[in-house]
Amino acid sequence: MQNQRRHAHVLVVTYPAQGHINPLIQFAKRLTSKGVKTTVATTLYTVKSINVSSTIAIEPISDGFDEGGFNQAPTLQAYLESFKAAGSKTLTELIMKLNNSGTPVCCVAYDLMLPWALDVAKDFGISAAMMLTNSASVCSLYWHINQGGLNLLVKQETLAAPPMPGLPSLDVSDLPSFLAQPTSQSAYLALILDIFGICEENDWVFCNSFEELESELVEALMAKWPVVMIGPMVPSFYLDSRIEGDTSYGASLWNYDNDQCLKWLDSMPLKSVVYVSFGSMASISNEQFQEIAWGLKASNMPFLWVAKELKDNQLLELIDSIGEMGLVVKWCNQLEVLAHQAVGCFVTHCGWNSTLEGLSLGVPMVCVPQWSDQPTNAKFLAHVWKVGVRAKQDQGIVTREELGNCLREVMIGERSGEIKSNASKWKELAKRAVSVGGSSDRNIDEFIAKLLKPDQ
Ligand code: UDP
Repeated sequence: MQNQRRHAHVLVVTYPAQGHINPLIQFAKRLTSKGVKTTVATTLYTVKSINVSSTIAIEPISDGFDEGGFNQAPTLQAYLESFKAAGSKTLTELIMKLNNSGTPVCCVAYDLMLPWALDVAKDFGISAAMMLTNSASVCSLYWHINQGGLNLLVKQETLAAPPMPGLPSLDVSDLPSFLAQPTSQSAYLALILDIFGICEENDWVFCNSFEELESELVEALMAKWPVVMIGPMVPSFYLDSRIEGDTSYGASLWNYDNDQCLKWLDSMPLKSVVYVSFGSMASISNEQFQEIAWGLKASNMPFLWVAKELKDNQLLELIDSIGEMGLVVKWCNQLEVLAHQAVGCFVTHCGWNSTLEGLSLGVPMVCVPQWSDQPTNAKFLAHVWKVGVRAKQDQGIVTREELGNCLREVMIGERSGEIKSNASKWKELAKRAVSVGGSSDRNIDEFIAKLLKPDQ
């Protein structure tokens, strides 16, 4: 069977941001572990950041900014247009090269940020799979907007009647920022309208979530698109040990000193440490930085803080003055940190990968959403899956007192037992979904079977 599977060749195309590269690389690893030949295409300047087994080939395509990377684009819109033009051309050339040099590509699995890849697949007459890197719930809201629901959302303070079954009642503060503030983030909104207008044209729409987590929504979406839950796309070491030594995604846009974090965590008592990270994209204001710093110090709990924005001398001085209880780093292997026995709580911006990682590793969370889909993820974490609390924000800032209250509630408060037991339950369900015979594992097997025998 494994030999036969090698005749299927899937080309996985990623967007060059950490939160997109990680789940798509993991998908490529999953396919490879099941005997499917897989190639990953990413921007030229991202190739060197990927370090996965030699069974997955990594090939460059161009976004038009090969020398400097996407930060060189003047605006997001200019970047997306450049990527569409240069990416369509170079992806086409890459598929021709791969077709001439071995097993022809039979499916392009592309990141939702690159909707033009569907046209490239269609030109070759091969299958296309769009990979959604948000939750099914958030995608259902985006789809609703695409169907003309925007006015409904912005005119109301609360969505008393949720537009899809399985969605809780949502305040404007729970909506993705592209919907809550559509005029200030219009390039993203335009992209969302593009993406969710073409879902049904794909052969598959993969969602990095699992059926048990969003069951009602999955059913509702299945009636609209060929949607398939395949997540959580978390390295298999943590959930299902089929890929040996798979302890990291194998792609990091930043360097880090893993030993430093792990040695420090090893010296800390069981479940005592607060891990703080706001992911790869959000930038925390100086005011918020100060509130977090003093909130952590006042809590008297040991903390490990990923502070990417640490350049400013004042911030460095601040870290010195609160430092004795904590370790502050610029980047780490978040998975290894979350999986460490010393970690008792995750203060998170609720990016979808961080959300899935916290759930999959059973870590209670304090939610401090910043933008994008994060407010909706926070709503689910705190009120639907009940694995944490959402910190109150006053004009976007979580005060030191509020942070302290949330940390106590999650770590030692009255509800901490319930939160910890829910976190353990979701960890078990996530593990089951990706283990042999679990819902996501079966869905990937069905995808592979269909690739091998497309007419059945
Ligand atoms: N991450 C990491 N080290 C860090 C912080 C984050 O490896 O110090 C990873 C994290 O495991 C996750 C990704 O970066 O897979 C961030 O994705 P997410 O969707 O949570 O947030 P984004 O960065 O897209 O806002």
